[in-house]
Amino acid sequence: MASEYIKVVLKKGKEQSLKRFHPWVFSGAIKQINGKPDEGDIVAVYDIDGEFLALGHYQIGSISVRVFSFENIETGYAFWKQKLENAYNLRKVLGLAGTEHTNVYRLFHGEGDGMPGLIIDYYNGTAVMQTHSIGAYRMREVLTEILREIYGQQLKSVYDKSESTIPFKSAINARNGHFWGNTESEIVKEYGLNFEVNWVEGQKTGFFVDQRENRRLLQMYAAGRNVLNMFSYTGGFSVYALRGGAQMVHSVDSSEKAVELVNKNVALNFANANHEAFAVDAFSFLDGIKDKYNLIVLDPPAFAKHLNALSNALQGYKRLNQKAFEQIAPGGIVFTFSCSQVVTKENFRKSVFAAAANARRNVRILHQLVQPADHPVSIYHPEGEYLKGLVLYVD
Ligand code: SAH
Repeated sequence: MASEYIKVVLKKGKEQSLKRFHPWVFSGAIKQINGKPDEGDIVAVYDIDGEFLALGHYQIGSISVRVFSFENIETGYAFWKQKLENAYNLRKVLGLAGTEHTNVYRLFHGEGDGMPGLIIDYYNGTAVMQTHSIGAYRMREVLTEILREIYGQQLKSVYDKSESTIPFKSAINARNGHFWGNTESEIVKEYGLNFEVNWVEGQKTGFFVDQRENRRLLQMYAAGRNVLNMFSYTGGFSVYALRGGAQMVHSVDSSEKAVELVNKNVALNFANANHEAFAVDAFSFLDGIKDKYNLIVLDPPAFAKHLNALSNALQGYKRLNQKAFEQIAPGGIVFTFSCSQVVTKENFRKSVFAAAANARRNVRILHQLVQPADHPVSIYHPEGEYLKGLVLYVD
C-alpha cells in the first residue's frame, strides 16, 4: 500500500501523463520527495493536492520513477506473481507457451507487460532475465522463485544478463550469471526449426526472438530465389529461406562468431543446403553484386541508440538501402528493418524512400512489419514500439 512507501509529490499539472497511464515520471515533474529513497525502492506518487497516482520504482536519472501500478495495492509476492502469470497466459493465448513447434519466446516485455525495466526471454527451459532498471534488478530473486512456480519441472535454469543494461553510474556492480541452475546453451525450436542459442556468449539474451513472424513471412517468398541475408547473426532468416525452398542462400555478418553460428544452425536443420556464409562488412559486400540476388534481407543493429545519433542513423539506413536497391535483380524483394527505438516508422520510411529515389528503381510496399505479439506495446506507452520493417518489391 502507498502508505508504506516514501512519497513523491508532483508539480502542479505534471500529473496529466500519469492520469493517462503513461508509466514514466521524469525528474523535472517532481516537486518534492518526502524522504531519501534508495535506488530501486518502491515509491508512491501523488499529485499536488494529495491524490494518489501510482506506485513505481525510484531511480536517479531523467526517468525518476518507473510505474508498475496505477492502483493503490499491496505489492508483495502475490502481486508480482500475478504480473508474471498474466504475461505467461498471454503467451499461451498467442500459441507460444506450451506448444510443440516453438519453445523460444519473450515471456516478459517491460512496459508492455506492466513492469518497466524487466525483460525475460524463455529458451526451452531456461529463462534469461535482462533488467534495465535498479528496481527490476533488485527483484531478481523473487522473480526467480515465481518463474520456478509457474514453469515447475520445465524450468532448468534462470540466467541474469543485466551487466550491460544496468546504468553504470548506479552503485550496483552488475555481473552476468546464473541465479538458479547452470545451463549455458540450448537447442531451441521456432516453428519447428532448430537453433542453438547461447545466452552466456550471445548478443542480447542470445537470440533475436523479435524477428520470428518476419522470418516466417520471408519463408513464403523464398521459393526459387537467390537470397542474401545481411547482418545474419544466428541466421534466422537464412534457415527460414532454406525451408521456403530458396535456390541459394548467402549470409553475411562482420563477426566470425556469427558466421560459425549460422553455419551450425543451417546444419542443424538441413543436410545439403545450398548455403554459404561470409564474415565481411555488409556495406562492402553490397558492392559489385549486381543482379546476383533477388531477395535481400537488411536487418542491421540499431544505428541510433540515442536521439543525438538520429541524423547519422537515418543516413546509415539510406546508404544501406540504396546499395541494396541498386544491386537487386528486377522483380526482387527487399526485407528491410530498423530496430532503433528512436527512429520512428515515418523517419525510417523516409530514409528508405530517399534510398529508392536515389537508386531510381520502382519500389512498392508489400508489407509493413512490426515486432511480434510477445513483444506487446502498451497503448499508453507508444515508445515501446521499436521494431519496424518494410517488405518491398523492386521492379
Ligand atoms: N538478423 C539477425 C539479427 C541481426 S543483429 C537475426 O534475425 O537474428 C545485427 C548483426 O549485425 C550482428 O550479428 C553484428 O555482428 C552484425 N553487424 C554489425 N555491423 C555490421 C557490418 N558493418 N557488416 C556486417 N555485419 C554487421
